[in-house]
Amino acid sequence: MAYEKELETALLAVQRATLLTKSVFTSHSKGTLTKSDASPVTIGDFGAQALIIASIKHVFPEDEVVGEEDADDLRANDSLRDLVWDLVTAAKLEDSAAEDKIGGPIKSKDALLEALDSGRSAGGRKGRIWALDPIDGTKGFLRGGQYAVCLALMVDGVPTVGVLGCPNLPVDDKAPLDSSIGADADSGEGKGVLFSAVKGEGASSRPLGKAGLQEAQKISMKAVTDISEATFCESVEAGHSSHGDQASIASKLGITKASVRMDSQAKYASIARGAGDLYLRLPVSKSYEEKIWDHAAGVVIVQEAGGEVTDAHGKPLDFGIGRTLKENKGVVAAPKAVFPKVIEVVKEVLGAKQ
Ligand code: AMP
Ligand code: MG
Repeated sequence: MAYEKELETALLAVQRATLLTKSVFTSHSKGTLTKSDASPVTIGDFGAQALIIASIKHVFPEDEVVGEEDADDLRANDSLRDLVWDLVTAAKLEDSAAEDKIGGPIKSKDALLEALDSGRSAGGRKGRIWALDPIDGTKGFLRGGQYAVCLALMVDGVPTVGVLGCPNLPVDDKAPLDSSIGADADSGEGKGVLFSAVKGEGASSRPLGKAGLQEAQKISMKAVTDISEATFCESVEAGHSSHGDQASIASKLGITKASVRMDSQAKYASIARGAGDLYLRLPVSKSYEEKIWDHAAGVVIVQEAGGEVTDAHGKPLDFGIGRTLKENKGVVAAPKAVFPKVIEVVKEVLGAKQ
């Protein structure tokens, strides 16, 4: 299999970092996160980014990383740095062989800062660059709703390996989606999934564990024959995509079911395994540039599960320009067979607004 080592590294790195985010959420909700006045999102972001970059650099020292965070805040704030240090040293996989594969614990506070700062790549169209969102869906994370730890390897600007850690999605790929999914408080029994894909090799899911990797199963999008029966996913935040335009598109497609709103790339994961069907992200602002780390992993997972993803004009997403998708506006994802119909209606709705 191609990119086997990259995939294993990414899966273990995301699994370990996801455990850290869960421990931050738990201590936050129990009120034990008192040492610093930084938000749990900030602390979880720094901790998860440092752990993942340290894992990647251990196995692939030459690779670049585009990460959302850097170490500036931690350099300026000792108590924040100490808090993140305590978290990253506590987040260990309960399997020493798995832990060794991603380099074991971060060695020192300097190594922690160095790892964080290694996320400053400018991106681009050449070579191997990882795109990392340590906590995507920060609002969902705070609510105990959906969030995702997102990591993708881009090769010459093309998302090639993608992993999403979704601690609050049901393990069962067939569990139906309903509108409660985005609001559900806390990860309970039967929750926590790692999704992954390698270009040309298909997409999979497996339960998120605490040790080594659990067994994976193939996932694929649902074969939608009657599009009016489709379930469509969108952001919770009205500031991230146009709920109004999305409602018009759904209505023109004959969809009567309410949308399923959830934060983060859990939307890509949910349609990839056929729990939902469409993901609509119509722009609210003309100037906003989507970030590559908000999409790279989800896109390759949906593509490998039998889907097509473009921007709202039907243009392929260009991950090779830099840290943002500046040549694209919005995102539309759907099973290949119905994609032409969906994008036609998206264009109609956008056209009517001109
Ligand atoms: P979601 O959870 O799908 O709503 O997406 C969360 C991501 O939306 C965050 O990681 C932000 O990077 C991104 N974001 C922030 N502002 C905007 C905006 N105006 N339009 C689209 N995405 C945004
Ligand atoms: Mg994000």
